[in-house]
Amino acid sequence: LTAEFIARVEARFGARPAEWHSGVTMTERRRLWRMAAEGGAELVVGARSALFLPFRDLVLIVVDEEHDASYKQEDGVIYHARDMAVLRASLAGAAVVLASATPSLETWVNAQTGKYARLDLSTRYGAAVMPAISAIDMRAEKLPAAHWISPMLAQAVDRRLEAGEQALLFLNRRGYAPVTLCRACGAQIGCDHCDARMVEHRFLKRLMCHQCGATKPIPAACPSCGAEGRLAPVGPGVERLAEEAAALWPEARIALLSSDRFASARALKEQIAAIAQGAADIIIGTQLVAKGHNFPLLTLVGVIDADLGLQGSDLRAAERTFQLMRQVAGRAGRAERPGEALLQTFQPEHPVIRAILSGEEERFWQAEAEERRAAGAPPFGRLAGIILSSTDPAQVSDFGRELAVMDAPLRAIGARLYGPAPAPIARIRGRHRVRLLIKADKAAPLQAAISRWLGQLRPPSGLRVTVDIDPQSFY
Ligand SMILES: [Zn+2]
Ligand SMILES: [Zn+2]
Repeated sequence: LTAEFIARVEARFGARPAEWHSGVTMTERRRLWRMAAEGGAELVVGARSALFLPFRDLVLIVVDEEHDASYKQEDGVIYHARDMAVLRASLAGAAVVLASATPSLETWVNAQTGKYARLDLSTRYGAAVMPAISAIDMRAEKLPAAHWISPMLAQAVDRRLEAGEQALLFLNRRGYAPVTLCRACGAQIGCDHCDARMVEHRFLKRLMCHQCGATKPIPAACPSCGAEGRLAPVGPGVERLAEEAAALWPEARIALLSSDRFASARALKEQIAAIAQGAADIIIGTQLVAKGHNFPLLTLVGVIDADLGLQGSDLRAAERTFQLMRQVAGRAGRAERPGEALLQTFQPEHPVIRAILSGEEERFWQAEAEERRAAGAPPFGRLAGIILSSTDPAQVSDFGRELAVMDAPLRAIGARLYGPAPAPIARIRGRHRVRLLIKADKAAPLQAAISRWLGQLRPPSGLRVTVDIDPQSFY
């Protein structure tokens, strides 16, 4: 929650709003809590927990960027703040506005079915215009090993450097998260049981499905085209990308924007302000740069790997790729300086890539909704994630197997239980993690059944059971 945002609200409405977030002092919070209860704070700008203020006459809740995955709180009490806002408004008889340029599929479907009223903005706010977006077919580009910037993209960067403008190279990956890809046909290795990409686990020397836990050895030949010895892990992080850029453009000033590179929010903010003033020629960035920063000199966005999220290991992979690509492309260009976005892809014919290029958003949501409906996936079906964790790996897998055997209460409502499987991140902070996944019809009384199911067994001491209804992440 930035000072700029508060200032904008004040400028628009003529009064400074009350603020509610983790940076507000306890004294101030007590004061605001009381004011809300007495009907004194007329406008509150707050983070997720502002939903729990005791408003006396709540009439309107606005959820900005409603598609943002960070509305889901995954520590402590697990809840989705967007859904909680809808519930809170409903209980209070208030109106709720879910605002987004790239809505979540859940919200889009609710608008389609008439559950929500839909309001369209016919013009873009301010001077921003969507840039021309085109694809670079990486199957046709000749790149040496361990290089990710195509000649076509490099030429586009050259033109910006000559013009004194800025280029952004976007790669949403801080660490090493490899994809196994066939260099002959462009196929990526998927799970035999799920519509999910298999992820290489170096330590295990195996490929693993993050949906169902299935694993298999890395095959010698491509399962799609049979070509041998053409499977390769693909996976630059932004830091390797910055090295490549430095070798290509030794004279250019290169700025790396990745949240883990900055000691404080203030340091990051200063860097962003300096870049906006022209302190860098080439910006290398993760998702961090997709969110609302305005770089007036930026006229080129090069997406290094537009396929990155596409066959990703969760059901919202296509939706999130579409949202992210539209947002990051939107960084390039203003009315007075038209922008260009180039998407490097091995799959230019992929429906999501085509939807991004065409800008036909409605068609994308329609197709995505149909796929989810066919799969019985949210928002047409329900999921619950069960995460077991313990410092004792044997204890956690034994308990998972016992739970799986006693699934009668789940079967009684027609739900299916998958797992247990080691979690994709099998150990966090010294705790070993095992996941189970429950899939049920939309109308099934899921919470009550889970309660009966888990009530059959007392977890051993030290073992933690976490229930995540409508999970947004599956790690
Ligand atoms: Zn192949
Ligand atoms: Zn699977």
